[in-house]
Amino acid sequence: MLLLAGCGGDDYVSLQGETMGTRYHITLQNSDTVAADVLHTLVERRLDAINRSMSTYRDDSLITAFNRAGLQQAVTVDADFLAVFAVASQVYQASGGAFNPGVGELVELWGFGRKLTLDNLQQVPAADAIREAMAHSQFAAIERDQQQLIKQAPVQLDFSAVAKGYAVDALAALLQQHGIRNYMVEIGGEVATAGNSPRGGPWHIGIESPQQLRGRTLSALKVHDSAIATSGDYRQFFEIDNKRYSHTIDPRTGWPVQHQLASVTVIADSVALADAWATALMVFGEQEALARADAAGLAVYLVYRDRHGGFVSHYNRAMQPYMDAD
Ligand code: AMP
Ligand code: MG
Repeated sequence: MLLLAGCGGDDYVSLQGETMGTRYHITLQNSDTVAADVLHTLVERRLDAINRSMSTYRDDSLITAFNRAGLQQAVTVDADFLAVFAVASQVYQASGGAFNPGVGELVELWGFGRKLTLDNLQQVPAADAIREAMAHSQFAAIERDQQQLIKQAPVQLDFSAVAKGYAVDALAALLQQHGIRNYMVEIGGEVATAGNSPRGGPWHIGIESPQQLRGRTLSALKVHDSAIATSGDYRQFFEIDNKRYSHTIDPRTGWPVQHQLASVTVIADSVALADAWATALMVFGEQEALARADAAGLAVYLVYRDRHGGFVSHYNRAMQPYMDAD
């Protein structure tokens, strides 16, 4: 698991591994006070703690305990869970429920959850099953009492749209605690950067082209201290009769989103916020996403499909400084 490799700058090292169904990559400038292999162990431990708290893929996680709990049955959660719950509540409110981590049942129904099988991958669920899962998607039905969460109505939590971002923030905080000032942390496309890259200037964070997934990028954001996340419909989706079904669910319809937005990249105050907002803006679609982003004070870069099957990109004024700076 331990992989240390020089990467350009003399004293930079990279750490990587697997987590949350994807990979993480960290590039950091070595410090005199803590060895890279010690940091790597601490990183693995931190990720393990976060997964034990909110991975829906683990039977022993707190989120699984919550999902299995009955009505009015209090479940005690940990500080990480509460922190994600707080960000989730904030973006749920601010997006009018477009971001809704209570969509767990809908995610399972459409075949994007842990019960992923070929069977439920390739068919549209029955209308009454969608209605029922929608009725069970009320995030607001979760009551918080200090460390405890209590269901007032049937609801299944799914933190997939925010947990990776939160984990990036947590690893960045860990590096900061150990005096690391120059780093890039990435988990499955969600990114935190600080200070300078090994080249000495800003970090260049590529926005992947949906057309050319193999390493081709559309643009690079140039950033020093930043929190960036991307949501897209081109990595996880399924097709029936040439129709695309995205893994982003519109909680207002119970259906996967069906517009021309292919990806949304957001820069925000934390990666958890950027992650949650990127998902919310995917729900709004290309028409509404820009206005919503401006209203929420977010820098965004959108990629959408044009009528001829090509891709067009667009970014707002708040994103401008990251496009030009060097
Ligand atoms: P992301 O890649 O961050 O946009 O997260 C997508 C994942 O979040 C999906 O695979 C679902 O597990 C979950 N999800 C889908 N729709 C929503 C939604 N409207 N709000 C919150 N989470 C969602
Ligand atoms: Mg997200």
